[in-house]
Amino acid sequence: MLHQAGNRFNAQELWQQDHDHVLHPYQHFDSFKKEGSLVIVEGDGCYVTDAQGRRYLDGIGGMWCVNAGYGRKEIAETMAEQALQLCYSNFFVDVTNAPAARLAAKLAELAPGDLNHVVYATSGSCAVDTAIRLAHFYQSRRGQGSRRYVISRKNSYHGSTYLGMTVGLRDGDQSQHFKYIPDLVHHLSAPYPYRRPEGMTPEAFSDFLVNEFEDRIAELGAENIACFIAEPAQASGGVTLPPPNYLPRMRELCTKHGILFIADEIVTAFGRLGHFFASKDVFGIEPDMILTAKGLTSGYIPLSAVIYSDKVHEVISAPDPDVWFTHGYTYAGHPVACAVALKNIEIIEREDLCGNAARVGDYLEKRLGELRDLEIVGDVRGRRLMMCVEYVRDKKTRERLPDSCNISKRISNACEAEGLLVRPIGHLDVLSPPLTITREQVDFVVDTLKRAIVKAVAELKAEGVI
Ligand code: PMP
Repeated sequence: MLHQAGNRFNAQELWQQDHDHVLHPYQHFDSFKKEGSLVIVEGDGCYVTDAQGRRYLDGIGGMWCVNAGYGRKEIAETMAEQALQLCYSNFFVDVTNAPAARLAAKLAELAPGDLNHVVYATSGSCAVDTAIRLAHFYQSRRGQGSRRYVISRKNSYHGSTYLGMTVGLRDGDQSQHFKYIPDLVHHLSAPYPYRRPEGMTPEAFSDFLVNEFEDRIAELGAENIACFIAEPAQASGGVTLPPPNYLPRMRELCTKHGILFIADEIVTAFGRLGHFFASKDVFGIEPDMILTAKGLTSGYIPLSAVIYSDKVHEVISAPDPDVWFTHGYTYAGHPVACAVALKNIEIIEREDLCGNAARVGDYLEKRLGELRDLEIVGDVRGRRLMMCVEYVRDKKTRERLPDSCNISKRISNACEAEGLLVRPIGHLDVLSPPLTITREQVDFVVDTLKRAIVKAVAELKAEGVI
């Protein structure tokens, strides 16, 4: 059914303007030239509408971010009221504003352990950059300035600035075209249990990963390592959950060797896994810093935050008249963004959206499990409202389908034609719907995705690929 929002827009003109003038994140030039963009003009609850009036259930939640759902009037009103009252304020050195101060106190209340301090930034990538600068600052302030290396994992995603790109290292990110920042980041193996070495148990895989970290520390020298950065569950690198006890053991090694543990919770924080923060409540660790963005404002406005510990703060703020934290963005602590975040958190608490994500997320996990029987489904994994399906040619050997099949895009296109958006990444389709999703909507998501996969299987057979 066509939605009336489409009537107010000139779909062809918008498509053309975008086609002629925009370079999108991760644009694939050949297909973009032919297909252009899907022009979204309206959002409401879990749904978005395109310029032609077609309505879709947004199984991606924007970009893992519209946690509270689209079209929240009270967030829009908060935004307008705050813009009228104070649209911007300087945040440098010793000037603050009411929403930024209140939000910092709220984040300290919600975050685990002694994470009681906040640095504001404007995007996930800027939060990653900030956290690494803060780690270097901390190490230098405690007299360990030689600690400069950052330890990360392959197949992680930590943003698109040059530092974020250097820290992350995903398959297929076309690294040959870019110049990685040299001599700064060391990558460990990806905690990707589905693709662990043949015959290795998950427990042995965990040992392997932890031993690799220990060996790397010995090789580089703990006195040269500033921090370890990790997504508790790798998101766009394949929605991988860590093997048993991996994160607590990595945390232990960090503590033992004076390495800061930075948890990149840009996707996992604010309810997606059923809790405000996943580090402690899902994975049992207390990091030295947690990075958050996306769900912090449910995507209504850009804002990110690095939440860090008393321990780090005591060191960096120790008395010294010559020391300044020479870092900061013009839009740090933006009053409108912080007011939106406070309202968003109020909604998540009032409507118990973490509880809904837990209940309906468990149902999504269970129902998606049905897809395991389909011929090209190698793995269904994730937790609650952060899930993915990985496609393979051979379920036994886990051999991938040829790239030329464009399998995840083929399936996401078929979903789109039936009113569902899922996110194709490499050989996976990813789901991260708003936390307001219902069981009935989950049924629609799983049934539609299933039909799209069955259709792709028939096509691949007809093409002689499987
Ligand atoms: N870290 C993680 C885990 C992410 O998923 C992302 C974005 N998808 C980022 C960092 C970067 O955030 P942004 O796109 O807001 O810069």
